[in-house]
Amino acid sequence: MKKFLLLLLALSSITSYSQTDQEILKKIYSQSLTNGKSYEWLDYLSNQIGGRLSGSIQAEFAVQWGKEELEKLGLDKVWLQEVMVPKWVRGAKEYAFMESSKKQTTNVNICALGGSVATNPLGLKAKVIEVHDFKALEKLGEEQIKGKIVFFNRPMQEDLISTFNAYGGCVNQRYSGAVEAAKYGAVGVIVRSMNLRLDDLPHTGSMTYDNLPIEKRIPAAAISTNDAELLSTSLKLDENLEFYFKQSCSQYKDVLSHNVIGEITGSEFPNEYFVVGGHLDSWDLGDGSHDDGAGVVQSMDVLRLLKASGIKPKRSIRVVLFMNEENGLRGGNKYAEEAKRKNENHVFALESDAGGFTPRGFSFDCSDANFNQVLSWKPLFEPYLIHYFEKGGSGADVGPLKNDSNVLAGLRPDSQRYFDHHHAANDTFDAVNKRELELGAATMTALVYLFDKYGTNPLPKQSGVKN
Ligand SMILES: [Zn+2]
Repeated sequence: MKKFLLLLLALSSITSYSQTDQEILKKIYSQSLTNGKSYEWLDYLSNQIGGRLSGSIQAEFAVQWGKEELEKLGLDKVWLQEVMVPKWVRGAKEYAFMESSKKQTTNVNICALGGSVATNPLGLKAKVIEVHDFKALEKLGEEQIKGKIVFFNRPMQEDLISTFNAYGGCVNQRYSGAVEAAKYGAVGVIVRSMNLRLDDLPHTGSMTYDNLPIEKRIPAAAISTNDAELLSTSLKLDENLEFYFKQSCSQYKDVLSHNVIGEITGSEFPNEYFVVGGHLDSWDLGDGSHDDGAGVVQSMDVLRLLKASGIKPKRSIRVVLFMNEENGLRGGNKYAEEAKRKNENHVFALESDAGGFTPRGFSFDCSDANFNQVLSWKPLFEPYLIHYFEKGGSGADVGPLKNDSNVLAGLRPDSQRYFDHHHAANDTFDAVNKRELELGAATMTALVYLFDKYGTNPLPKQSGVKN
């Protein structure tokens, strides 16, 4: 028995984590669940400030709020980083209806896509042609498309477990639909909302005109999934039906905005930087609670939780609240540009931008050695039901920091309900659960703690993985 215990002891000393790590993770999770700040912060950001589209007054309120709250945490440094951002304004609420060949009209729910041009002030009315992909446009050709509204109606694939994959399989309709349809003389574009659920809410999101000259740009709007179904059925019954929509959005000159940054300076390696962040801007229809208020407040709480758990990081840990992820990624690009200019060695970056739902784990963009290092920590996360560790993408805002040797990661919460809310009017505070949000903040803090303690250059003996 004694021999067995000794053997156990010897075995435990060669794994990559100690009893202390278990205790520290417990402390971090307890702190977040009993004394977390993320939910209170999200309440303010969502309910007092609201939707924060780049260039809006709310986005500037959010910048000031973020700076003030970080200053209250007693970090070593808090500052704003200037970044020029696009300013697109939705204008009056959009209006749309279908009109049958017998002149019967039915109102439908639409919203302009971010970056779209307005319709004529009196609106736009035309016949509709439904397609599911860009290939179909090519087949139909200018003869059948010219003068019509193209209706992109490819639904998100329901049997994919990762709803992000389903989104990825559809979003080109929203992003490039207008520029593709314009090639064949379409006069407008209506896109089925990126939503797996059937409901009445249109979901906005970014789109591009590429280099299309202004006079060739056609207005683009999203239609709710219920109304997409209705329009599709109605077209089958009456191919001469017409669609009317009116939107009055406009694009202004770029305006000055900011990334908000706070730092705990490292005690041993102050010139090695960790970033943890989310994006402070949001779409304008809801208040951006899941996208990405959740990631913002969780990232802020990572630094607070480190302090509250008595952890003094060896490396410099920065929280970055990125501006303009949604319609430009200017903040993410600017942060990486400045980091490069100042020769700052960013060894690790973690983003939370997949909603405030129950955390499942992380996706990693890193070397095999770093990934094996992460896998060796899996047992530490088990008590918190964190089990998803996969190689893959990280996050849009931290992506530009990628180099040959660093570790990029993205928090991966459960994604089943995310696209019920994403970029729609129901992305609101009441859709976020306090405990789920806090578990996410704790999970992020735990990963930051482990990477700071063991470093991002794992020695073979440190990785602890038995082959
Ligand atoms: Zn987002």
